[in-house]
Formats: sequence, C-alpha cells, structure tokens
Amino acid sequence: MRDRIYLSSPHMSDEGYEQEYVKEAFETNWIAPLGINVNEFENELAAKVGSKAAAALSSGTAAIHLALRAAEVGEGDIVFCPTLTFSATANPIIYENAKPVFIDSDYETWNMCPKALEEAFRKYPEVKAVIVVHLYGLSADMNKIVDLCTKHNVVLIEDAAESLGTYYKGKHTGTFGDYGIFSFNGNKIITTSGGGMLVSNNESKIAKARFWATQSRDQARHYQHSELGFNYRMSNVVAGIGRGQLKVLNQRVEKKRYIYDFYKRELGELEGVGLMPDNDWDYSNYWLSSITLTGKVRPIDIYEALEAGNIESRPVWKPMHMQPFFEKYDFVGTDVSDKLYENGVCLPSDTKMTDEDLERVVEIIKGLW
Ligand SMILES: *Cc1c(COP(=O)(O)O)cnc(C)c1O
Repeated sequence: MRDRIYLSSPHMSDEGYEQEYVKEAFETNWIAPLGINVNEFENELAAKVGSKAAAALSSGTAAIHLALRAAEVGEGDIVFCPTLTFSATANPIIYENAKPVFIDSDYETWNMCPKALEEAFRKYPEVKAVIVVHLYGLSADMNKIVDLCTKHNVVLIEDAAESLGTYYKGKHTGTFGDYGIFSFNGNKIITTSGGGMLVSNNESKIAKARFWATQSRDQARHYQHSELGFNYRMSNVVAGIGRGQLKVLNQRVEKKRYIYDFYKRELGELEGVGLMPDNDWDYSNYWLSSITLTGKVRPIDIYEALEAGNIESRPVWKPMHMQPFFEKYDFVGTDVSDKLYENGVCLPSDTKMTDEDLERVVEIIKGLW
C-alpha cells in the first residue's frame, strides 16, 4: 500500500522553530500555567491579523463560547449562525441556553447568504448576536454582513477557525466583527496540537475573557470569585508550538493556494465539476480545496476511488439544520447548503503533499470520467 495522503495534517516547520520555543519553556520551567510564549503568541497573532488584542485559549470552541459571553448572550437569546459549518460553531450557543437560528449559504461564497440574513433580521428583530463563518478559508461577503449587523446594532462574531491567512479586500478575516476566533486544532492551517485564540479591538473585553478563562479569580490573596469561571487558558508549552507555526503561516498559505490551482487546472474542465468560489475580493488560504459534482460522477465515487488508493477525502460539512441534535431550531433560506452538502467533496489539501502526490490524486479522479 502506498503512503496515505491526508486531507490536512499537522505540518511543523523544517527549521524546528516550534521545538526551540518549547525547549525554552522547559528550560525556564514555564510549563504552566502561563509564561512568555502565551503573551508573545497573543501579541504576534494580533499583529499578524491586525487586531488590537488577543486571548490564547484551549480551543477555538472555547473562544466562540467566550465571545458569546462577551456579547452577553444568555438564556433564550437568539443567535444567527450559518447552517453550513462544523458543529463547534453552534455548540457554544447551546452552552449558554441560547437559541440558534440557522442561515443558509449562497453559491457565490458558500458562506452566510446576506439575503437570508436580511430575512432572518425581519423574522427575529430581537436577535442578540450573529456568528459568521469563513468556510474552508473562503471569506464571507463581509461588506454586506457587517452593514446588516451595524444597521441592526447587533454584535458580530467571526468564526475564522478555518481562515487564518485569508484576507477580504486586504483586511484579515476575523477582524471585521466585534470578535474573531481562530483555531489551532490538528487539521487547521497551523496547529498547536490543540488551541484557539479570541481577538478583538476591545481590549477590556479581551482582558475579561482572560479572566473568565482562568476560573474568574478576583484580585485577592485568597481564592475569591464573584463570577462564573472556566478553565480555558492555553498552556505555555502549547503556545510555543503556535509561535513557531506562525512563522511558517505564509508558506502554508502559499502551498494551499498552489494545491487549489493544481486541482483547478487538472479537474476544472471535467464535465460536471465546479470549483469552490474564487471571488476577486478574497485572498483565500484555501484550507481545504473542494469541488462540487453535478454530472454523472457522484461524490461517493470519488471517496471510494480515493480510499482504495489510500487517500483521504470527505463530504462538505453536513448543514446544522439537518443534524438530529439541531433540527428543532429554525432555519432561514432555501436549499443551497443542502445542495453543497449533497454535491460537495473536500479533496486532500495537506501542505506536505508533493507534486507526485497531487498527480496520484488527480489521476484517480480523472479515471472516473
Ligand atoms: C475547527 C473549527 C472550530 C473549532 O475549533 P477547535 O479548536 O477544534 O475547538 C470552530 N469552527 C469551525 C468552522 C472549525 O472548523
């Protein structure tokens, strides 16, 4: 059996940057709880994306949860959320006993449809917050979404877990809303083995998030708590990996874009194949290169053929409004996200792939035509 080709797996720097920062943490015994790596990772990431402040956390999900708390979302509140996303976007809404209303995608972006969002605002004028996602590194149509949220005076949270390195009209995704979040889970464009970041230009809210994330310990010699706390802080060892990874982020984005271009060139002309959107406002990190199939070759044919060649691929996210756990919540839109799920395939987008590996993938796929 030939070596397995993955969708997206951890890719540490050739230079060993990550290990240097981790070694430093060991040498200074700043293993936990906090330390230089945590502070510097926050500063470096905030500078990279152009945000005033950042809080390093244990996961992207934790970052979404604290963003909702910062937005004062509570019991019974309505939160708009894209239906086409990973469940981690929606779960924290439930942690707060709030109610998600799922919003459809559009074909232009695969992300939250501004028209459906507008309709949702008409239906639920009392909405408390909006979460927008930049799926697979493609940016949502932020001008329209920001305008709608501003007009309705509603907090906007950007789930940029998949879009670190993506720019919309020259500005980094995750910095358009009141809060942005990033993930460093193992399959993301850079990884710390697990972790997340909350960013905002509101420095006092970020300070508050750090406080909540460390069990809400009040300033006192004894253990004093006047608010509910969480154990959500990133460790100093993990942050060291993040600092090293951040140094190779641009390289990783370039490679993801190379992979996308390769697939576009090799597969784009096949009957029934559509590529993921390529909008001129968007400089995408193309985290996972994805295609849609509307001809006689179906997604299942691709999964099976690639798997037989020891190559990983998978469907586009199954929409939240179709999930057993979430189907009781309202959905605004038509069938765009259903269709993207039905026809979409995420292709291997591992940055360690060689040209030979890419050839292996496209040869198998082309063989189906
Ligand atoms: C990965 C991901 C998350 C969650 O990040 P974790 O760090 O794994 O908690 C949230 N939203 C989206 C869209 C993701 O892809």
